[in-house]
Amino acid sequence: MNVFRQWMARILGHKLLGLVAIVVLWFWAGAADRATVQLLSFLVLNVLLAQSINLLTGIAGQISLGHAGFFAIGAYAAGVLSKTYGVAVPVALVLAIAMTAAAGWLLAIPAGRVKEIYLAMMTTGFGLLCFEIAKEWSSVTGGVVGLSGIASPTLRNLKILGWTVDAVDLLRIMLVATAIVLLLMRNFVQSHHGRAFFAVQASEIAAGSIGIPRGTVKRRAYAISGAMAGLAGALYAHLVGYLGPDSFGIMRSVEVLVMAIVGGLGTIIGPILGAALFTWLPERLQVFAEYQFMVYGLILMVIFLVLRRGIAGALIEPTRFIAPRAMTVHRAIHAGAETKPASGTDATAGDPPALLDVHDLGRNFAGLVALDGVSLSLRPGRITALIGPNGSGKSTLVNVVSGIYPPSRGRVVLASEDVGGKADHAIARRGLVRTFQDPRLVPTFTVRENVLLGGQRHFRSTMLAAALRWPSSLREEADMVRRTETVLSLAGLQAVADQTIESLPYGYRRLVEVGRAILAEPTVVLLDEPAAGLSEAEQSQLAAMIRHLRDAGKAVLLIEHHMDFVNDIVDDVVVLDSGRVIYRGHMRGMREDPAVIAAYLGVGQDGHA
Ligand code: ADP
Ligand code: MG
Repeated sequence: MNVFRQWMARILGHKLLGLVAIVVLWFWAGAADRATVQLLSFLVLNVLLAQSINLLTGIAGQISLGHAGFFAIGAYAAGVLSKTYGVAVPVALVLAIAMTAAAGWLLAIPAGRVKEIYLAMMTTGFGLLCFEIAKEWSSVTGGVVGLSGIASPTLRNLKILGWTVDAVDLLRIMLVATAIVLLLMRNFVQSHHGRAFFAVQASEIAAGSIGIPRGTVKRRAYAISGAMAGLAGALYAHLVGYLGPDSFGIMRSVEVLVMAIVGGLGTIIGPILGAALFTWLPERLQVFAEYQFMVYGLILMVIFLVLRRGIAGALIEPTRFIAPRAMTVHRAIHAGAETKPASGTDATAGDPPALLDVHDLGRNFAGLVALDGVSLSLRPGRITALIGPNGSGKSTLVNVVSGIYPPSRGRVVLASEDVGGKADHAIARRGLVRTFQDPRLVPTFTVRENVLLGGQRHFRSTMLAAALRWPSSLREEADMVRRTETVLSLAGLQAVADQTIESLPYGYRRLVEVGRAILAEPTVVLLDEPAAGLSEAEQSQLAAMIRHLRDAGKAVLLIEHHMDFVNDIVDDVVVLDSGRVIYRGHMRGMREDPAVIAAYLGVGQDGHA
């Protein structure tokens, strides 16, 4: 089965396949009868729509049940502009795309704040709203009667720059446009922009912790997805020449979502297969006459028992999210010369200023005082252990400092700037990264891709450069892949670099998360119980990674219970109890400190809180 999937991946993932498909469809269009040309045209539009929802739902994780709304905006915008206002078709098309992109951007403002079923409801509302506007705003949309006479091949009045476009021409135009969109989308997905979309889908908190602004990512996802659906809508308007509200109802939204899900969300090939199936299937189901929707419903109910990850999931290994060319460039560089990671500041010089200063930090949770006036400083090239019994506020300290919760009082000074209360991604961008007590990674990403995510804050290429796979963007990607490789070898993860996180035992997750933090090349690193649940071998690997951070001049805060582990590597210790610092200083002194002994005796004598 695996061999089969690998072969399918090779065939379906092959560069030439897309080209072959376009050439076949191009010539088929010329030879086919009118009904077939019509069907193929709808197929191409469905591919575009399914990809549009795939980008938003499959890749950025934002479920949309109102996608027909974007389709409608694009269709009516193009139809009204060209018919009522006499705008030239290509111009109307561009304006229609701009309008749907804007609609997507605006929808993201409320929709970006909610998740799951609430998001499903909100997008359903958006779809209904668009449908009702199409129905009621008769002066513009023609209301229930609809808008007819839009330039189309059927009326023989579709002209682009003086050239009269017939049905076959239009199909070919749509084919090329869709192919270009898919190519750009593939490049986009295999770049740091696409990985940011996935990171937001997997865990918004993790995304924020490596400097990905979730709000921006969502607005981009809605806008780009909206633009794609808008393009489909505009093409649809000129394909059929008539627009009525019934083409944009909730059933249309469901259909589009079904194509993408059944085909395989999160892949590029999946929605193409899904669109093909569901363009072809309704025709076949007509033999069931009035029962056809029943059969359709039954198929939907049964299909996921067999195809958990859609058709693409059954057929092929999932696409990877690094530009393949960046990998080859990297290998070429790697074969040439082994590069050492840049070593940081000189750790021996006197007593350097603190990289992070926490002053009198307080945090309450509805009456519970989790942090009560905590102050501490982290200096470059030093490892500070933060210990204390369970519930003493260690994780809360990391959460407040890294921007997950705003402080109730006090200051967090990072590189002489008070970042207290700033957003997590903004703090990460300024060079403070953290790991989580429960590792937060992208489960479907490989080890390499997860580590690579750490580099997010260093990427500069724009979305356009990534979509066009501009040389500068490819160089940037290759460079980060090279650095990732160095971190993978430091973490001892090279052997599993190509395996997905979900397929690996737990211990790897912690090492991968610390690897991700190393790739971020932060100035301050906060590690929340990184050694918990690790085997002895994994612990020594972890210790090597932490020492590497120290030697590179980073300021490290290490939350840990294992005293042996802490003993070996830390320079200073801070002990928390009930949200207060009860000890600060050397390891040796801590063991004899009466306050520390009392705090630990309260929970257990072995030092494992
Ligand atoms: P530690 O990491 O030292 O085990 P935590 O920082 O997780 O401790 O928790 C400190 C206290 O704050 C605990 O009493 C915990 O229940 C409380 N706490 C932490 N996070 C929250 C939250 N989001 N809401 C309410 N209480 C919280
Ligand atoms: Mg904790």
